[in-house]
Amino acid sequence: METRYCLECGEPIHGRSDKKFCSDQCRTTYHNRLHAESNQYIRRINAILKKNRSILAQLNPGGKAKVSKNKLLSLGFNFNYHTNIYDTKTGNRYYFCYDMGYLSIANNMFFLVHRQEYIG
Ligand SMILES: [Zn+2]
Repeated sequence: METRYCLECGEPIHGRSDKKFCSDQCRTTYHNRLHAESNQYIRRINAILKKNRSILAQLNPGGKAKVSKNKLLSLGFNFNYHTNIYDTKTGNRYYFCYDMGYLSIANNMFFLVHRQEYIG
């Protein structure tokens, strides 16, 4: 019979062949760590999205504004993350970070909007 090793500590496992851990403690440790890592990942993404939203809000206090891409980048805006996309009938694609949206326009400029009534 092939020897199996604990996924957590690497010790050989005795007993049933379908066991993945040598002990309940190792199983708990393993799952707690996986859970912590996925939570950490989610927290990191949430932080980026919140930062993006606050940058947009800061640059767009009146609900509509025009800003340069460099201005957004200089404040740390991350274009890789948004919460949703809104395509208009006229073919424009707005990216939103929660209620704050932006649309790429000519010459590396962005048109910022604030969605009053948030709809997913
Ligand atoms: Zn173990």
